[in-house]
Amino acid sequence: MYDLLQLTQIRPIGMRDDGDKILIFAENIATPPDRCDKCGNAPLYKHGKRRYTYADTPIHGKPVKVEIETRRYRCKACGTVVTLSSPSLDDRRVATRRLVQYIQDRCFGTTFTWLANEVGLSLNTVKGITQDYAAHLEELVELETPRLLGLDELHILGKPRAVLVNLEMRSMFDMLESRTKVLLTNYFKNLKNRDRIKWVVIDMWKPYELVIGKQLPNARIVIDRFHVVKEASKKLDELRRHLQSKLSSEDRIKLKKHLRWSLLRNEPNRTEKDVENIEYIRNHYPELSMALTIKEEFFSIYDAPNRKEGEKAFQDWKDSIPKDFRKYYGPVASMVDRHHGDIFNYFDCPATNGYTEAMNGVMKAMNRLGRGYSFEILRARSLSYRVMRESGTIVTHTGETKDISKPVSTMGDRIEKSYGTPISTLESLAENDELIRKS
Ligand SMILES: [Zn+2]
Repeated sequence: MYDLLQLTQIRPIGMRDDGDKILIFAENIATPPDRCDKCGNAPLYKHGKRRYTYADTPIHGKPVKVEIETRRYRCKACGTVVTLSSPSLDDRRVATRRLVQYIQDRCFGTTFTWLANEVGLSLNTVKGITQDYAAHLEELVELETPRLLGLDELHILGKPRAVLVNLEMRSMFDMLESRTKVLLTNYFKNLKNRDRIKWVVIDMWKPYELVIGKQLPNARIVIDRFHVVKEASKKLDELRRHLQSKLSSEDRIKLKKHLRWSLLRNEPNRTEKDVENIEYIRNHYPELSMALTIKEEFFSIYDAPNRKEGEKAFQDWKDSIPKDFRKYYGPVASMVDRHHGDIFNYFDCPATNGYTEAMNGVMKAMNRLGRGYSFEILRARSLSYRVMRESGTIVTHTGETKDISKPVSTMGDRIEKSYGTPISTLESLAENDELIRKS
């Protein structure tokens, strides 16, 4: 019979088409070992035959099973039973090595269910192969530890997950299952070249501060400015709701709900309509107008030319909050006081986690794909830049930026160091629903 299997030491002896799958019968013709590899005793004695069924790559679109008759040998001295094997077989997966390879080539490009049906393996086996492969790829690619790290969270599969971004390169560095103190501690403890990290941009989540202080002694913290100013916006909104509740229903209608968005939108993003709305508020609601001014002044602290001026601007702002507004803006001032050093570090390292907005689409796509997958698999799939990189889809930057406030473009540079998937790549993959389909 023609050797249709082309597997080392495996000789086909027959085949049958079962309609939904193809069965190939074969025998293992490997030479038996001449002595026991446990105790060295010789010779080994024949110990019957067994049939093992391995999954193989599909033929004519049908899953293939290879039933291999395999002779077994036994050592009389120590009782060890030796089963003949073949370098073409993966005994752990009960599949041919080429099938494992076949799955590895496709696992980031299609769903596990589809792949499991195609090759006739269980869903768990396919997942297992993918997971091992992702871990293997991860070992191959050593990402450059960022100098400027953004630590933030995204809600993925119903839980907040820590997302680590290289802010200088605008690339996804890693994604962690959760953002607990224990997990973060372990992560940073084991992170290669962690001394390289000079700055970490975070929100005011306490464990971040504690872990960074302990595990990254060379790093300084910057509290993300958007998280800081957001607190003032929240207070403005609280005050608006309070004022609104005191109005007559007629007035309340006038101060329509959409005014809220005009109020919250910041200067550069305002539409013509917003400007009109704000004009209206300024003319009709002095209290709200005042609250808006206080908020705007708070925002403008960040426009200060340097740290010293920034700190002074804050002090002036704090001292000038009118008594009636302290109930609202007082807590904002206290918050800044509590995190004073880390907040004003912004002036020494003007970086933000503003990429989070760009990541919203990515998060949504992940959640859509995510049903039924474990976080690890989802992580491997979304960080499949490791695959993209191998296939040359990804472009990495060679150098380091001098001006950290302006992230480098990774387009068009040659591959030398790897910094992770550019956020822009993740974003456009998510937009086109190709986050995991592209490999
Ligand atoms: Zn033995």
